[in-house]
Amino acid sequence: MRLALIGGTGIDEMPCFREGAAKNISTRFGEVELIENEASNLIFVPRHGLDHSAPPSAINYRAQMAALRILEVEAVIGVCAVGSLRNDLPPGSFAILADFIDFTKQRISTFFTSDDHSIVHTDFTHPYCPCVSDVLRAACEDSGVQYEPAGVYLGVDGPRYETPAEVRLYASWGAQVVGMTNVPEVVLAREAGLCYGALAIVTNPASGLQADSLNHDFVRAQTAAVAEKLQAILTLALGNIPVHRECSCRLNSGLVI
Ligand SMILES: [Zn+2]
Repeated sequence: MRLALIGGTGIDEMPCFREGAAKNISTRFGEVELIENEASNLIFVPRHGLDHSAPPSAINYRAQMAALRILEVEAVIGVCAVGSLRNDLPPGSFAILADFIDFTKQRISTFFTSDDHSIVHTDFTHPYCPCVSDVLRAACEDSGVQYEPAGVYLGVDGPRYETPAEVRLYASWGAQVVGMTNVPEVVLAREAGLCYGALAIVTNPASGLQADSLNHDFVRAQTAAVAEKLQAILTLALGNIPVHRECSCRLNSGLVI
């Protein structure tokens, strides 16, 4: 079974996931840079590109997910850096995402546009693959880290961080973490029929929950600080994704690549 890991800030600098051959995959949505490790049958997609040059709003999410389908990947773990909307989820803790609110406004969030002449309404009762999510929860438990087992993610466009008023609003909606990349990644994974689970790294309290201002270097440093734990969780989780999964992720896809 072929697996994939999609990683952004911090994780795309971890040598363990950069082992293998760098490749360019052509899809009808564009080119994708990724690393194929034949020994472990793992595809690593550096979300922002191999040189970390694409900001969250410029990532070609559709091409990345289409490339995984072309490479016959079955299950995917997406890792994302998030701001915490709750005081009991401090920097250095993790969240396994279980649901999301899409507050992005300027992204192509579906494969099924009018260009395709296809009308497809995908079920999102269970937005994240329950099997991959279970494996991630078990890996966090075994690694002894602090984690939220069923996080609600609020997706924004960025690239700016949130205002204090936005943070109060998002928290009042029931979101626990906020970030710029998991939507539309999770949406496209489901539309593509992939088993997709997401591990969020809490890198900072969202604006308004801390006195200091926020910048990307701070986020990067926080990710580096949890690198060892992150590697342990991911290695465990990737090794434990069951070949036979009792989920309906694959049944929902009407996508022709
Ligand atoms: Zn699944």
